[in-house]
Amino acid sequence: MREYKAEIVAVGTELLLGQIANTNAQWLSQQLALYGINVYNHAVVGDNLERVEEAFTLAQKRSDIIIVTGGLGPTEDDLTREAFQLISGMEMEEHKDSMDKIKLFFTNQKREMTPNNRKQARIFKGCTVLVNNAGMAPGMKMELDGRIWFFLPGVPREMKQIAADGVIPYINELTGNKQMIKSLVLKFIGIGESTLEHTLKDLIQAQSNPTIAPLAQENNVVIRLTAKEASEDRLDALLKNTKLKILDRVGDYFFGEDDQVIEQVVVDLLKKRSMTLAAAESLTGGMFTEKIVSVDGASEICPGGIVCYDTAIKRDVLGVSGKTIQSKGTVSKECALEMADQVTKLFGSQVGISFTGVAGPKEIEGEPVGKVFIAIRDVKGYQQVESFLFTGNRNTIRKRACLKGLEMIYNYLK
Ligand code: ATP
Repeated sequence: MREYKAEIVAVGTELLLGQIANTNAQWLSQQLALYGINVYNHAVVGDNLERVEEAFTLAQKRSDIIIVTGGLGPTEDDLTREAFQLISGMEMEEHKDSMDKIKLFFTNQKREMTPNNRKQARIFKGCTVLVNNAGMAPGMKMELDGRIWFFLPGVPREMKQIAADGVIPYINELTGNKQMIKSLVLKFIGIGESTLEHTLKDLIQAQSNPTIAPLAQENNVVIRLTAKEASEDRLDALLKNTKLKILDRVGDYFFGEDDQVIEQVVVDLLKKRSMTLAAAESLTGGMFTEKIVSVDGASEICPGGIVCYDTAIKRDVLGVSGKTIQSKGTVSKECALEMADQVTKLFGSQVGISFTGVAGPKEIEGEPVGKVFIAIRDVKGYQQVESFLFTGNRNTIRKRACLKGLEMIYNYLK
């Protein structure tokens, strides 16, 4: 099979300013990898005609397949068409179907179409139009001196739809789909990256197919397995085999794969056990409950929660005894346990979790910044309380406490 070098060019100043991440390139690379296409370069260029032209000239020189995203919109800084025209000399014309769609959109919205919107329907003469079902500017495919160019809108959902319908099938055919690459991401919680890496050192060093790469993500430790094979069955078998070898050693910390997040896994486990969970949150201020509620179907397992930031609220609303507060303080294991107990009663849940501690910047009741107690109580009498000393600024401490709470609840449910 001929080896194709692919390149993804993302156009947009927002990307260079760091206002948005280049998730288009990430997603496209993952897709191309599945079909055995090697992506050799990612380029990012701002909304500047000269520099977009420069990026296109370079791509034309070095790559066989070039996928451009962004810069197809109606405004003056959408310059992708103009830049490609400069390097190709291709003529443009109005695409009738796209123009009709744009007009219809404005009619339906009862808005007047400004002339610049015509620009979105402009296509290169002789190109293959890739229909945009989610927005206005169509995608395009064309060839220039043996190089294949795809132009896709920047909006991720439009880009994905057009790529799935118009780019991937074409590439699949082009390559005959002989070699496939597939990745599997294993996610861990409660183990540090270096410990994980150390435990798997010999496997990591010995493996070439799949490769095993530890990665640190914001909230958890992740291992990515990437395999290359001729068939999907072989790929799956390779990945599964290596996954089992890894879980044999560190399975205790494993919680999910690919896009799974810990809060989703926790919600699923609660549903499976027909249990409900309520949280009493002091320093986390609702962050834990927010995480839980962000999961689809959380209403089945979360009746509510309480933000009991002030001591009086802990005592008068949540019902922590004045005696405990006075003798042990609010940043104490006794207070944490009572908070978890009270929230379980208050919300009638099967299990309760509590967070109390010092987010900073000042110490409280003689306890240092970062000191946090997290407790779990359930209706059957189970109780657990842990103390932590988290580092970082106020919000890092709050986030770490929240993540630890998810880990504790996960382990409890497991
Ligand atoms: P449309 O023609 O649909 O208006 P466009 O081709 O003009 O889109 P842009 O204006 O460049 O696209 O980008 C539109 C939005 O899409 C951006 O504001 C940004 O939110 C998102 N976007 C653009 N490029 C990327 C990228 N590379 N990765 C992730 N999101 C992106």
